[in-house]
Amino acid sequence: TQAQIGVTGLAVMGANLARNLARHGHVVAVHNRSLSRTTKLVEEHGDEGTFLACETPEEFVAALERPRRVLIMVKAGAPTDAVIEEFAPLLEPGDMLVDGGNAHFLDTRRREAALRERGIHFVGTGVSGGEEGALLGPSIMPGGSKESYAALGPLLEDISAKVDGVPCCTHIGPDGAGHFVKMVHNGIEYADMQLIAEAYDLLRHGTGLDPARLADVFDEWNRGELSSYLIEITAEVLRQVDASTGRPLVDVIADRAEQKGTGRWTVQIALDLGVPVSGIAEAVFARSVSGHVELREAARGLPGPSGVTDKALGEEFVEDVRRALYASKIIAYAQGFDQIRAGSAEYGWDVDPGALATIWRGGCIIRAVFLDRIREAYEEETPPVTLLTAPLFVEALGLAQDSWRRVVAKAAELGIPVPGFSTALAYYDSLRAERLPAALIQGQRDFFGAHTYRRTDREGSFHTLWSGDRSEVGA
Ligand code: NDP
Repeated sequence: TQAQIGVTGLAVMGANLARNLARHGHVVAVHNRSLSRTTKLVEEHGDEGTFLACETPEEFVAALERPRRVLIMVKAGAPTDAVIEEFAPLLEPGDMLVDGGNAHFLDTRRREAALRERGIHFVGTGVSGGEEGALLGPSIMPGGSKESYAALGPLLEDISAKVDGVPCCTHIGPDGAGHFVKMVHNGIEYADMQLIAEAYDLLRHGTGLDPARLADVFDEWNRGELSSYLIEITAEVLRQVDASTGRPLVDVIADRAEQKGTGRWTVQIALDLGVPVSGIAEAVFARSVSGHVELREAARGLPGPSGVTDKALGEEFVEDVRRALYASKIIAYAQGFDQIRAGSAEYGWDVDPGALATIWRGGCIIRAVFLDRIREAYEEETPPVTLLTAPLFVEALGLAQDSWRRVVAKAAELGIPVPGFSTALAYYDSLRAERLPAALIQGQRDFFGAHTYRRTDREGSFHTLWSGDRSEVGA
């Protein structure tokens, strides 16, 4: 027998994807740089399906039916290039090399262009859902040529998560499109996690409820419009008691958030594209602030609000926070989808945002009932310029906004940092403002740098002779 697909790189993600493929009845060739992982996989899980264990790249390539489908699941960066260089010379025109690692989309564009010259389809694929998703059904975001998707899509759709029978996998667009949307997915994930953390912090300080009681609150929220994987696991984490101290685990975990880099990439690229993803940026910065131990130690004694320790806020505050969380979440996702639209336009990918919302409904970390609302918004006859103006979000924001304002004001009064909530509200108010103070900034720029400005009442560029008689001249 020949294998329908091969997986090289059998650490946790590769091994679980290989098992997922085998469990779905596909014959899978498996290979890893160090043989021990291959042996271990087949020894422990060989009975789940048909694995062809291969010791060398040559053996691996020979085990595959043509055109060959090779899924690379190794450490992102230089290791991916090394593996491509190892396998590409063994492949033939028409074969497919699929990179399922967390590659930067610009690396994917470079690799795709180079391999296209050699007649090989390079498919940069986002895979979300962590270890468990890889085994039980991830959300899969493949880029690359349409032709390669025709040969690869059915296999990937088969092993992806399903929501209402619809696979959480679709062709995203050419070259780096898949890795780009996976990057923004992770950025949105950062923002969503930050907002949930702020909601927790507000409730903890505002109401004095302990983590176990707050777990009940999040469980309750998980039954409504906020229903999502991240809310669900938040309740689980809050309910966990530390075995060695008997205290809530969340009180024992060091409060320094780490990051691997995809959130940072999202913000870097957003800056290049000129897309204001302030929710994602604040989430990345909030993690960064938490990790700056020396800054935090130096500043710990700075004065806070005097005499305010509101632990007495009740049910109404809990509902206010829930609404503020939902509104802020709409903003964060709207900004992420804006970035996808901008990236798609910049690189000519033609990404379908509705299809993306559809495949994020299951399998991935940001899976949520909410994604169905986004899908619906993009299915309208005239898709919205921004998700904020989709009718169902207009309504949701309208319902939430008073609560949202009260929560941000309360947070400022109590001295609780809510960068996510407040930047989301500022974005909302900026977009809906009749006039922004950007007019004054243009005046300042013209004053010190003769950068000129436009007028509301006439076409053209103008400059005021600030150091002269202050008359206006056309530029
Ligand atoms: P790791 O990122 O820890 O990578 C380990 C694997 O890479 C091993 O198979 C290792 O082989 C191989 N490797 C490293 N360097 C080389 C090299 N120079 N040549 C050949 N093979 C090499 O594994 P994960 O399973 O955690 O992740 C795999 C990919 O999936 C990564 O790109 C990751 O970013 C991405 N990803 C991970 C998710 C997660 O939740 N962990 C979620 C989604 C994507 P050896 O055994 O010989 O050392």
